[in-house]
Amino acid sequence: NPTIGILALQGDVREHALALEASGAFAVPVRRERELDSIDGLVIPGGESTTIDKLLRAFDLFEPLRAKIRAGLPVYGSCAGMILLADRVLGGIDGQRTLGGMDITVRRNAFGRQVDSFETDLTIEGVLGAPVHAVFIRAPWVEEVGPRAEVLSAVSGGPAAGRIVAVRQGSLLATSFHPEVTGDTRVHRLFVDIVRDALSEHAPSL
Ligand code: GLN
Repeated sequence: NPTIGILALQGDVREHALALEASGAFAVPVRRERELDSIDGLVIPGGESTTIDKLLRAFDLFEPLRAKIRAGLPVYGSCAGMILLADRVLGGIDGQRTLGGMDITVRRNAFGRQVDSFETDLTIEGVLGAPVHAVFIRAPWVEEVGPRAEVLSAVSGGPAAGRIVAVRQGSLLATSFHPEVTGDTRVHRLFVDIVRDALSEHAPSL
């Protein structure tokens, strides 16, 4: 089974661990640079993207993680994690830095303030069965998708209809919402499949 790290600086680390374990992965918290060497994939949980950025730097993880992403480490970012994977950010603090890797522009706090956090059902490319119940908490949306990224889901109705909330680029996956809080593990399963595919591609051929 693949070993998937969860960036454990801020956010729902335990909930992501439970969802990953239920999806057939071995989940480990990541706080140190050397821990990046023993994982097959990484989850960046939600939280506050500027705080996670500062903590990544305080823990000397920013540059090593950036390099791992460039080298092909599969990463799933939820909410603030999506912001950290985006190449471009709107509505952030001036000059907000990200790890980058995904050819997308995200808008922070796009749906409104805390009171405007909301829930809706989504159809997601690559997720079979009933629509996924999605929980958005001061979430970003994807305002622009470059040619290298692929849209997996958009909001289907209401004031935010058409807004892009799930994207993939190779082994990088990002959602505006928090799948770890609903008990539905299908988004985590999609990521575990991406990690397995990446492992089999890089496995030495016999
Ligand atoms: N609003 C947060 C940010 O901009 C993200 C919120 C979340 O991760 N739930 O970083």
